[in-house]
Amino acid sequence: MRRTLLALPFALLPLSLAQAASHEHAHDHDHAHEEHGSLGAHEHGVASLNVALDGQTLEIQLESPAMNLVGFEHEAKSDADKAKVAAAREHLEQPQALFALPIEAKCALQESALESPLFGEAEHEHAEHEHEHEHGDEHGHSDIDASYRFACAHAEALKTLELGSFFGTFPGTEKLEVQLIGPGGQQGAELTPSNSRLSF
Ligand SMILES: [Zn+2]
Repeated sequence: MRRTLLALPFALLPLSLAQAASHEHAHDHDHAHEEHGSLGAHEHGVASLNVALDGQTLEIQLESPAMNLVGFEHEAKSDADKAKVAAAREHLEQPQALFALPIEAKCALQESALESPLFGEAEHEHAEHEHEHEHGDEHGHSDIDASYRFACAHAEALKTLELGSFFGTFPGTEKLEVQLIGPGGQQGAELTPSNSRLSF
């Protein structure tokens, strides 16, 4: 009995703290959502690229309007459109060719994930898919996201990342807004087809 009473304040304190924190978080999230815009507000031609090097681990995340990569954002129904989506997917599945990591760094792909409404979602129920489809049409915009994790045996050789091949493969991409976290700290950069080299 006594033990239970003593335990009470300790049990209550973290709970109220957690509630306050989650409330604050929800507020921050809404605020950020308004500032940066939702999916429907992405800018065609512009994609964001997050690059983080931590020890031997290199992570690259791409968030791109589908327009930049396949030339449209609706669900692929025609054979021609399906072929374009399949081709983009194939390129994104070979990030070493897109991001031209220095060979000396000996980076090996450990994990990759591709995500887009355009890729279809076999694991979802048909009804849910239809709903997403309607939702997508309403806004008229779709993204293609890709994330990769590499293990680089000689990470110290990672001085640059050359994105020329990326721009060449996806000419609908005019600008990459890059956030880079590396040994030298955090920096932002804007890459274009004529200025496609990122320095760590
Ligand atoms: Zn769009």
